[in-house]
Amino acid sequence: MKSLIFASNNANKIAEIKTLLPNNFTVVSLVEAGIDIDIEEPYFTFQENAAEKARVINELTGGDCFSEDSGLEVTAINGEPGVFSARYAKAEEGFKDNIDKLLSVLKNETNRKAQFKTVICLLMNKNYYYFEGVCSGEIIYEKRGEQGFGYDPVFIPDGSDKTFAEMDMREKNIFSHRKKAFAKLLQFLNEHHA
Ligand code: IMP
Repeated sequence: MKSLIFASNNANKIAEIKTLLPNNFTVVSLVEAGIDIDIEEPYFTFQENAAEKARVINELTGGDCFSEDSGLEVTAINGEPGVFSARYAKAEEGFKDNIDKLLSVLKNETNRKAQFKTVICLLMNKNYYYFEGVCSGEIIYEKRGEQGFGYDPVFIPDGSDKTFAEMDMREKNIFSHRKKAFAKLLQFLNEHHA
């Protein structure tokens, strides 16, 4: 049985990945590994931030691990908020403010194209591997829906007429960037380390 630490404190993400991994892998959360830290995300790319989280956890534990970084890239504003998605309006995460700022910045913009992106970094046997998932869609003018988190109330994925916040988890996962990136990680683990 191979053990992998998931460098995240997000209970939803941890629960999701635990149900998805092959039987011969055990996912250990940071809490379960006895690690209580909030790792900085100091870089300007998802890839570098994900790698940094994996590097820190590997340094602390010596174990193989994976991490992820994600965000929203809006075409009309050159890919912003990107790696700053959680901290768009102010330093601390506050989603109402982030959405309000985005809608205000895009108020007179007709190009509403955007995409969510997730990059997962797997650090295994000292090697770094990356897996990316993208979900294209558009930003609407007003919030709709109560579910999900982050920018979900203003994002409609291509192929749907509902926002992510109007979908339950099962429906969101048909489109989700995170789900696509995890699927690639799982395929890699199944093929190379089963
Ligand atoms: P992280 O991967 O938890 O660091 O996510 C960074 C930020 O990107 C979140 O705080 C949200 O602002 C945004 N984000 C990432 N994925 C989603 C999503 O699925 N829905 C809405 N917002 C998201």
